[in-house]
Amino acid sequence: MLNKRVQSNKLTDPNTQGRCVLYWMQHTQRIDQNYALYHAIKKANTLALPLKVLFVIVPDYKDATTRHYQFMLEGLKELQATFKHMGADFCVETGSFDEVLASYLKAASVFYLDDAYMPFMRQTKKHWIHEATSLKIPAHQLFSDTVVPVFQVSQKTEYSARTIRPKLLKQVDDYLDEVEMPKLKKRVNSSNAFSLEEVMNTLDVKVLSPVTEYFKGGETAAFDALNQFFDTRLKHYPKGNDPSTAYTSQLSPYLHFGMLSPVRVYLEAQHYLDQYPEATEGFLEQLLVRRELAFNFVWYHDGFDQFNQMTYGWAYDTMDAHREDARATIYTLDDYLKASTHDAYFNAAMKEMMFTGYMHNTMRMYWGKKIIEWSKNYESAYETILYLNNHFFLDGRDPVSYASVAWLFGQHDRAWASREIFGKMRYMNANGLKRKYAIEDYVKQMNALKKPLK
Ligand SMILES: Cc1cc2nc3c(=O)[nH]c(=O)nc-3n(C[C@H](O)[C@H](O)[C@H](O)COP(=O)(O)OP(=O)(O)OC[C@H]3O[C@@H](n4cnc5c(N)ncnc54)[C@H](O)[C@@H]3O)c2cc1C
Repeated sequence: MLNKRVQSNKLTDPNTQGRCVLYWMQHTQRIDQNYALYHAIKKANTLALPLKVLFVIVPDYKDATTRHYQFMLEGLKELQATFKHMGADFCVETGSFDEVLASYLKAASVFYLDDAYMPFMRQTKKHWIHEATSLKIPAHQLFSDTVVPVFQVSQKTEYSARTIRPKLLKQVDDYLDEVEMPKLKKRVNSSNAFSLEEVMNTLDVKVLSPVTEYFKGGETAAFDALNQFFDTRLKHYPKGNDPSTAYTSQLSPYLHFGMLSPVRVYLEAQHYLDQYPEATEGFLEQLLVRRELAFNFVWYHDGFDQFNQMTYGWAYDTMDAHREDARATIYTLDDYLKASTHDAYFNAAMKEMMFTGYMHNTMRMYWGKKIIEWSKNYESAYETILYLNNHFFLDGRDPVSYASVAWLFGQHDRAWASREIFGKMRYMNANGLKRKYAIEDYVKQMNALKKPLK
């Protein structure tokens, strides 16, 4: 079903002035099940042209911090070696998209691009497809980073998991096609090698979020994490809501950077359906339904990243009704960053976030709900949560980030019994964590974490 993953300009004939097929890699930072790369190689072989793969490192990318760049660059280093081996010209450039892309595009016969979901990237890619049209260059954007392309699942904002689930399940089998990367016929030597250290020194990072030693970037590390999960932890997944366990996959950073294909994860999981049906179905529900609901939200819901547009009418009504409720405790961003609130579970979650770049899902829910409870108003809570989420999580700045933060405020959820501050929005408290989980073990584990290296 590769033809249903593509959005193209209307041009079909390669530009005969072009000296290469160009793939601008940006979202899909891998080889496996990278459909833009697959098509680009096939086209290069048909036209007997070399393949150029361009990656642009934007030194001041919104909300990106040192740990995000380090993780991404580890992956790019590996790709550099892989592309060399494949005979593709892999060019890593630092600068703005506008500065870099024009000269590369002019030399292209056919142009390939990959996924984009956030408004800035959607706009940017649209702009460069338009530029390609002006230069009479066919342009094809291939979507590889959801199992079912977001524009095929549904043509509107889905209300909840309940409404999108049947649509996904009906279509998913059509999108599990596995492609094998063809060999390049016209091999070239890469013209540009980059140094991870040199690039790190040129970055304009505004927020301190140090490199972590807990996740290593790149496609090999992603496959290692995938194999470890399926070999040892998937069978325990039904107990994975307990934050003191490490039973979930921890694949979200790799999915976010496109270092791992969700189709690959889905295909691997299917092998375990007979052996561990409950665990595998539970896992696939998160990977397919919850994750792709988030992509639907970002794609279709105008204002998905704006406080006053991101959730349902009933949630705004209930917030208005409870806006003046007394807040017993108000904390600042600084209190959170020092992990110095009165709540040991919250502080432990902050340590997990700051030291590792990750946080267990149960704690993400608890953490976000507490910030709502301890903020002077809902707007500042929203800002603080998004700020921390996107600067510290390796999987932050993702469609799932925005849908999950909106979920804290009722989006994709239902109304609950009313209570102070939260109104009808779902509430969580420490007693729930104590009752259901080995939460003191979680605190001990987080207190034992090593501090970030740099
Ligand atoms: C307040 C809050 C903020 C969050 N911020 C982010 C974020 O910035 N980035 C992010 O990727 N996830 C976010 N999540 C969702 C979820 O917590 C993480 O995706 C999950 O914890 C990642 O761990 P895992 O890979 O072990 O998940 P697993 O349980 O192994 O699930 C497999 C995959 O399914 C997807 N997934 C899992 N849970 C959810 C969910 N609730 N909604 C949508 N997709 C899901 C992820 O891609 C995950 O890697 C947030 C949740 C909350 C409540």
